[in-house]
Amino acid sequence: MTGTETIADRLRNLRDRIADLAQAAGRDPATVALMAVSKTHPAESVAAALAAGQRLFGENRVQEAAGKYPDLRARHPDLRLHLIGPLQSNKATEAVALFDAIETLDRPRLAEVLAREITRQDRRPDLFIEVNTGEEAQKSGILPAAADAFIDECRDKWKLPVVGLMCIPPEHDDPAPHFALLREIARRHGLTRLSMGMSADYETAIRFGSTEVRLGTAIFGPRGTAA
Ligand SMILES: *Cc1c(COP(=O)(O)O)cnc(C)c1O
Repeated sequence: MTGTETIADRLRNLRDRIADLAQAAGRDPATVALMAVSKTHPAESVAAALAAGQRLFGENRVQEAAGKYPDLRARHPDLRLHLIGPLQSNKATEAVALFDAIETLDRPRLAEVLAREITRQDRRPDLFIEVNTGEEAQKSGILPAAADAFIDECRDKWKLPVVGLMCIPPEHDDPAPHFALLREIARRHGLTRLSMGMSADYETAIRFGSTEVRLGTAIFGPRGTAA
């Protein structure tokens, strides 16, 4: 990545690269969405991406998204915003109101609270269940051994609009087995959407069936603060 490349340049190159990778994997390029992860980056950077035709965005904090996105959405009603960071139950009201998808459903208490808010607000964001494929103690996500029962509970007991699964492989692991595991759990449940792949591993993720890659650094450059 060079300093002279603009956000528009990077998006164009990434779209081409994603389409090539999909084709090489025998997949229709239209089945792989590019999500621009704008956490820590200012609204001006998001506006530059919007001007370049980007419409799908991800943020990992409710508060940050609530500050940045309402104005942008007013100007671009077709913008779609996903929550990709951990969600506290006490922020569920705001999250259901603000996001088009919540990708980090990972525990029964949150399922219950989301079900209540979805009914109360009559708004149904797409839900992804996050699986902690690396079984890392500090990471959120349901453990793989508990995933089948939790997916069933979300759909059968809480009637939640679960559309797919999401994972973040451990930083220093080969991501391939994690993506394969997520794909296998999704297949067992007939879930068609797989949110997997970040700037460092999206190429592998596409080979393993990712339907949305979440790219921050590759589009917006390095983040100033840890997030
Ligand atoms: C920050 C973040 C990304 C994007 O990471 P990059 O390495 O900058 O592409 C993707 N997914 C989640 C959940 C994130 O928090």
